[in-house]
Amino acid sequence: MHVQNIRHRNLCSVGLAKKFLQGLQRRDFVAGCAFIDGNWIATAQKDVVVDPATGEEIAEVSRCSAADINLAITAAEHSFPAWRGLLPVERGAILRCWAKLMRQHSEELAILVTSEQGKPLEEARYEIAYGAGFLDWFAAEGERAYGETIPSHKVGSLLQVRMQPIGVAAAITPWNFPVAMITRKAGAALAAGCPVIVKPAPETPLSALAVARLAEEAGIPRGVIQVLVGDPIELSAPLLRDSRVRALSFTGSTQVGRLLLERSAETVKKVSLELGGHAPLIVFDDVDLQKTVAGAMAAKFATSGQDCLAANRIYVQRGVYSAFLDAFAASMARLKVGHGLEPSTSIGPMTKLSVANKCRVQIEDAIAKGARQISEKENLSLGQNFVVPTLLADVTDDMLIAREETFGPVAAVLPFDSEDEVLARANASEMGLAAYIYTENLRRAIRLSERIEYGMVGINTASFTGPPIPFGGWKQSGLGREGSRHGIQEYMELKYVCFGDLAT
Ligand code: NAD
Repeated sequence: MHVQNIRHRNLCSVGLAKKFLQGLQRRDFVAGCAFIDGNWIATAQKDVVVDPATGEEIAEVSRCSAADINLAITAAEHSFPAWRGLLPVERGAILRCWAKLMRQHSEELAILVTSEQGKPLEEARYEIAYGAGFLDWFAAEGERAYGETIPSHKVGSLLQVRMQPIGVAAAITPWNFPVAMITRKAGAALAAGCPVIVKPAPETPLSALAVARLAEEAGIPRGVIQVLVGDPIELSAPLLRDSRVRALSFTGSTQVGRLLLERSAETVKKVSLELGGHAPLIVFDDVDLQKTVAGAMAAKFATSGQDCLAANRIYVQRGVYSAFLDAFAASMARLKVGHGLEPSTSIGPMTKLSVANKCRVQIEDAIAKGARQISEKENLSLGQNFVVPTLLADVTDDMLIAREETFGPVAAVLPFDSEDEVLARANASEMGLAAYIYTENLRRAIRLSERIEYGMVGINTASFTGPPIPFGGWKQSGLGREGSRHGIQEYMELKYVCFGDLAT
């Protein structure tokens, strides 16, 4: 079995992103100014934004400094009392307006996302809708942040628990979902009554700045949302050091998350972390093969594999092993690699060369240790950020790909024999974000969903995200939850109030 016909786009797409960006009606979306204290600031120092498919420079953005972060923290602090003082329904109306504006500008935002991140345009459109959904969701959650009344343990007293906004929040966001990871954090913070300072990934600043323009148009007051682009280490240091910043939310690698957690300890911030995954996808002999392969394809290749939910270890029971590989390889043959702005593309470039190189290292390591590559070899004419979708069979637990997150379009398939064996292997990871189980056996599905050590579990589905779900991981995949009714809690403090001496 050998997949010969994965089709590619070559580098005739040079100039494509520039052409699309030049066609945007909203010229301000590519102005590249930072957004501090309600002002769009052009700094003297610039960073370039690159199309990851071609390596071309497509825009410049103003680079902020540590001093700018201090200005932003002061502005956020000043804006806090008035924002907190609005009725939840008033904040909710502004958030809903922001969501509406995002939907109105969906196409232009999607072009920005694809141009700087690389994902296929259709996936970028989906991201805008997904991202806007968090604003609507948290608009309503803010209205429902009830608190509690506790049946009293003391005579003549009334015990209340109130939920109050924590204060200035910082959001450090990644490049794989450059819009949705901002709205998932900012939506919750703003609905809770907190101002938020966003530091997007340097690879994808245009999407962040465009979304902030729409936030301003929606009526979010000066200083309540700010976006500063620049060097991650330089900009995060003052955010972490400053005791006025009370909450930090980060999405990215476990390595950086650990570092930020450590640095936040000095000022005891409330920290929520959405870190790496290493998702097992377990396929039992009894499955509907067609549906399972479709699920595994989605779980592996969405966002070109650059997704913390991506299936990293596909465990297939021996009875269906070879049939699964055949069907999976046949589906992979339909993937089209190319520039995300080409309508037929299903796999774009890796946003960062380091991510592409990590895939190459894992492929080489797996083959050297005996894995079979059932797919085309690397096609270097595509450009160095492209990784050809790769299917590796007979992967064993000692291979790098079975131990580390890949974050690219490389599918690792591992055979297994029994339920207990696969559960132990799936749980033998420091990561615990998402897991997928495919079986038609109800008892087994319930058993495994209980025993598997992951924060999110899909049974016979690869599609489970959205604003209502508590997104987050166990173990070193993170702390806290985003989305759902839990997400707003990351930006709130609980206050217990006891009214005493009420008997007379
Ligand atoms: P990364 O953790 O280095 O970058 C993510 C974010 O952190 C970016 O905004 C980056 O600018 C910022 N950052 C990086 N170093 C920092 C520092 N020292 N201080 C403060 N901020 C810092 O991730 P990466 O190297 O770009 O991607 C590699 C790996 O990260 C992937 O293989 C994947 O495991 C993980 N990742 C996960 C997600 C996710 O959705 N959970 C998103 C992106 C990356």
